[in-house]
Amino acid sequence: MPSENVVASGLIERIGNSNAVISYKTSEQNISKELEISDHEKGLSEMNRFLMHSEIGVIKDKSEIQVVGHRVVHGGKDFSDTVEITDEIKSKIKSLSVLAPLHNPNNLKGIEVAEKVFPNAMQVGVFDTAFFHEMPERAFRYAIPNSFYKKYDIRAYGFHGTSHKYVSEKAQQFLASRELPGNKMITIHLGNGCSMTAIKDGKAIDHSLGFGPANGLIMGTRSGDIDQSVIFYLINQLGYSPDEVNNIIQKESGMLGLTGHHDLRDIQQKAAEGNKACQLALDMNTYRIKKYIGSYVAALNGLDAIVFTAGIGENSSVIRKMACSNLQYLGIEIDDAMNDQRIENISDISLKSSKTKVLVIPTNEELEIAKQSYNLISKSDI
Ligand code: AMP
Repeated sequence: MPSENVVASGLIERIGNSNAVISYKTSEQNISKELEISDHEKGLSEMNRFLMHSEIGVIKDKSEIQVVGHRVVHGGKDFSDTVEITDEIKSKIKSLSVLAPLHNPNNLKGIEVAEKVFPNAMQVGVFDTAFFHEMPERAFRYAIPNSFYKKYDIRAYGFHGTSHKYVSEKAQQFLASRELPGNKMITIHLGNGCSMTAIKDGKAIDHSLGFGPANGLIMGTRSGDIDQSVIFYLINQLGYSPDEVNNIIQKESGMLGLTGHHDLRDIQQKAAEGNKACQLALDMNTYRIKKYIGSYVAALNGLDAIVFTAGIGENSSVIRKMACSNLQYLGIEIDDAMNDQRIENISDISLKSSKTKVLVIPTNEELEIAKQSYNLISKSDI
């Protein structure tokens, strides 16, 4: 940093298993090795051996690492900015685990491990919720008795903020370089988790995920918007326990529940072969995206650009085409040939005549975390 040059990247999969896989990549090497990695500390120590290796390493000593940036999913209402992680911050992250039980405890574990492995480095927390911190109250409040907000902080927090921020800034630069307006934007993050954000003058003003990460769009295994009466019917009439219903909504619903598959590539293939359930699932999925586009155009009072990102948004021309079809009224017109091209960097897939630009921008949450961490240490005297 600040050249944004990746000198090494790595990934550890299946931590806790005897056949965990560690991958390590530099401009000259691309290594993948199967070994037993019992826990995160062992995993990061193994990665460190690669980083400091006499032949393929990129650092000589771990003291060369000045800062470790961490993605932390839930920052609650306290964190609007990237922060240096102190003991006080760690206990706040821990206390927010009740709101993100699947994420925050593991994020904290990552921080504690990195503190041990890189004791001289500053640990920095970048919160997924921070980008939504300035959303207007009318967008983040639920219409339930005020006491639930005041006493228990029940409100929409939002997720995927690092991704929405990164692609919206890239889009703004891209549009500005072509002297096109970019004040009113909708970013659509479609991966295993899916969300949409309405962004005005660079600030999030509405977002589809809420108190938890299952609201809004139809996702790989999560239902997205659902009438809450269904939940009470499942519990009170059909005898499911609250935990079972939570499991159904988070892990057995969405595209998986509708088709039996959660990987969109399989669903697209089966739909093309004539599978009715897969066709309906694609139709429902993109109809939901359209409804959110419509509501966000109303919230923004106009629209300059739509941005697609993440695994599905970057790769599925089918979803992009279906989601943008019949929206000419809003000035949205896709160029089919551009949409079908493989997306490498930023692509404008709209027709020249399209009033609203439709962009595909690969997300890069790691780079955004690196940028924010770099900015923080640049302000301090490290
Ligand atoms: P992510 O969470 O961003 O890694 O995205 C994961 C999702 O991207 C999975 O549902 C994949 O099915 C989907 N995906 C990845 N590549 C493609 C592709 N070429 N076409 C359609 N979907 C894809």
